Amino acid sequence: MSANAIEIRGLEKTYAASRGSPPKRALAGVDLDIPAGSVFGLLGPNGAGKSTLINILAGLVVKTAGQVRIWGFDQDVNPRQSRAAIGVMPQELNLDPFFTPRAALEVQAGLYGVPKAQRQSDEILALVGLEDKAEAYARTLSGGMRRRLLLAKALVHRPHILVLDEPTAGVDIELREMLWQNVRRLNAEGMTIILTTHYLEEAEEMCDEIAIINFGEVVARDSTANLLERLDAKTMIIHPEAAVNVLPEGPGLDVSARPDGTLAISYHSHHTPAETVLEAVRGAGIRIRDVKTEQADLQDVFLELTRSR
Ligand code: ADP
Ligand code: MG
Repeated sequence: MSANAIEIRGLEKTYAASRGSPPKRALAGVDLDIPAGSVFGLLGPNGAGKSTLINILAGLVVKTAGQVRIWGFDQDVNPRQSRAAIGVMPQELNLDPFFTPRAALEVQAGLYGVPKAQRQSDEILALVGLEDKAEAYARTLSGGMRRRLLLAKALVHRPHILVLDEPTAGVDIELREMLWQNVRRLNAEGMTIILTTHYLEEAEEMCDEIAIINFGEVVARDSTANLLERLDAKTMIIHPEAAVNVLPEGPGLDVSARPDGTLAISYHSHHTPAETVLEAVRGAGIRIRDVKTEQADLQDVFLELTRSR
C-alpha cells in the first residue's frame, strides 16, 4: 500500500447524449492523489463534476478514459479489491422502501461478501443512532434517518476509505453533528475520509486537504491552511464624510482611492484584524460615513484560479 489511498490519472468522463440533450463532458482530465489517513475535501459548485468523480471511484459510473487506483488496486485490473477498499454514502437517497435498516445492512454485507460471523449490523446501527429503528421499514424513516442508514450501509464492509457525497446538504444540525462526530472518530481509527461539499466553511472545518474542482478540472489542490491563506483576502470599502487628502497606510494594507470617492482597502483577515484597518483610516484623519466589507467567496476564488492558469 502506497501513502496514497487514491491515485487518479487523466480521468475523463463524457456522458452520452440522451433524449435530445447533447453529450456532456463532466470530467476533463483529472489527476489527483488523496493521502491515506486524511480527511480530504472535494469542493466545487453544483455541476462541477464531484459526484461523477465519486461515482467512478465507487464503481457506479464507468469512466471514459484514465486510471484509478484505490488502496493500491487498479480499478480495471483488480475491480473486486478496489471496490472492497471503499464505501460510499451517495448524494441520492436511494433505498429499497421495503427493507428494514437491519435487513438493508445484511443485504449490503452479503453483496460485499462479509461472512455472517463478521457482520456488525447492530453495532453499525448504534454508531449512526438507528438502533431503535432496526426493524422499521425504510419508507417510514425520515429523510435524516435515511441518510443515517446510507452511512451505515457504506460502513458494513469496514472499508479503508469512506466517501461522503454532500453529506450535509439540507440536513438538520443534529444530523450534521452526528456525521461529523462519526467522521472524526472513524478518521482517528485510521479511515481515510473523502467528502464533497459546496460549502467552503464545511471544508474548512473538517478537511486537512482540499481539491477545488470546477468544470470537470481540478483548479487547486492544497492543504486547507494554505488554501485559506489564498481565500482570506478581504476588501473594506470606506465612504468618507469628506474628500480624502491623505491615504491611510499600515502594514498589510493595500489602499486605493476609487473614482467614486470611496477608499478600497485590501487586507488579509487572518493577519490583520478589521480594527487595524479602521485605526489606519481614523489615523489619516478620515471620518467614516459608511463602511462595508467585500469578501472573496468561492465563486471569486474559482474565477481567480481559472484566470491564473
Ligand atoms: P456535482 O456533483 O459537482 O454537482 P455532477 O458530477 O453531478 O456534479 O455533474 C457534472 C456534470 O455532468 C453536470 O453538468 C451534470 O449535469 C452532468 N451529469 C451528471 N450526471 C449525468 C448523467 N447521468 N447524464 C448526463 N449528464 C450528467
Ligand atoms: Mg453532486
